[in-house]
Amino acid sequence: MKKAVNETELVFSAVSENESFARCAIASFCAQLDPTLEELSDIRTAVSEAVTNAIVHGYRDSGCGKVYISCKIYPERTLVIKVRDKGCGIEDIALAMTPLYSGDPSGERGGMGFSIMESFTDDLKVVSGVGKGTTVIMTKKFSPFTFPSASSENG
Ligand code: ATP
Ligand code: MG
Repeated sequence: MKKAVNETELVFSAVSENESFARCAIASFCAQLDPTLEELSDIRTAVSEAVTNAIVHGYRDSGCGKVYISCKIYPERTLVIKVRDKGCGIEDIALAMTPLYSGDPSGERGGMGFSIMESFTDDLKVVSGVGKGTTVIMTKKFSPFTFPSASSENG
């Protein structure tokens, strides 16, 4: 892949209060791409699911840890977001990514997080090691920027 034209990183405690912080911070960073409202909403939702998983599942054994986000913009309006935890890891990634599957023992989760990330981005990769943690890599290509037309300015 070509060199990133802009990038940012976030590190924060894996507590639920930081889910909205992460979602808003990444959305703010994306604003430079002049996204459509739909694209912005897609990114917010996908980041929210990935961060929630890191907080709820990644550190379920220890109850504490940090979430690491790297967000890079590549040429041609391509955004790559990596959400990483250093928690328990995922034993069977294919099973975890199956729609409606949840490994959460409470029975309160829908098992749709990975499916949502998949449908709101152009590419989703999950890398994980048991006892080492999980990295979710999401790629989104933003639509070409178009200048507002002269007619709408005059109208
Ligand atoms: P929902 O997202 O709908 O509330 P969910 O979190 O259970 O439910 P997914 O987000 O699709 O559903 O995740 C599926 C399963 O994958 C989780 O239940 C959990 O067992 C496992 N998993 C996901 N992310 C992680 C993670 N970062 N660390 C460890 N396990 C994870
Ligand atoms: Mg989830």
